[in-house]
Amino acid sequence: MKLEKTSQSALLRLSEVDMEIGHIKQEITKAIESKELVLLRATQSELAGELIAARTVVENFDSAQRRADDDLHLVEERIAKDKARLLQTSSPKEVQGFQSEIESLQRRKSDLEDVELELLSELEQANAALAAVSAQKNANAVALESLQQTIQTQIDELKGKGRKLTADREVLLGKITEEVLKKYSALSARQIAVGKIDNRSCTACRMGLTANVIDSINGLSDDELGVCPECQAFIVR
Ligand SMILES: [Zn+2]
Repeated sequence: MKLEKTSQSALLRLSEVDMEIGHIKQEITKAIESKELVLLRATQSELAGELIAARTVVENFDSAQRRADDDLHLVEERIAKDKARLLQTSSPKEVQGFQSEIESLQRRKSDLEDVELELLSELEQANAALAAVSAQKNANAVALESLQQTIQTQIDELKGKGRKLTADREVLLGKITEEVLKKYSALSARQIAVGKIDNRSCTACRMGLTANVIDSINGLSDDELGVCPECQAFIVR
């Protein structure tokens, strides 16, 4: 297949540019699908769930503790009322009644105080657990945000390189004939489409070439493209 000598270097460069563009696309996909990013996102949603659970535990202990506190105040009020009544009565029967009720209320009060203390201790632990999950979630969010920014910067840089290469590609395409481009497209869809002879090998497939093959490629006229007998890639000189 014929291609002017000056266009042959454009063909080789086109092949390199297309491989670089392919590499950039792979790098972008790799950056988007970062395992670390996937892991941080999964951890973030896990921690969001844990935070809701920890908050619910705190709320439950908090309302239980309030209820115990209300009960305790009611008992304390009744004790105060009974004591006031006790001072006002002179009937021995009533005195005995009030005293016995006050004793029973004191026992109830003591029980409620124990319950309230226990609930306060549990509430304190639940609050500490909530604070720990919240801190973990914040730290993970910072790491996630930072990684997302790093990846975005990487992608922006890769896209910038890709745009430059695409512009270079347009210029190169203008230097190559339709006929060669058609063959090039078919070849480059499945392999490295253009090579040179380097160290007696084809640079497209890395196979060693015989002296006969090398001689016949070198014997071609300047505007004739060589073809590697091993991989069918164009050989430019
Ligand atoms: Zn080859």
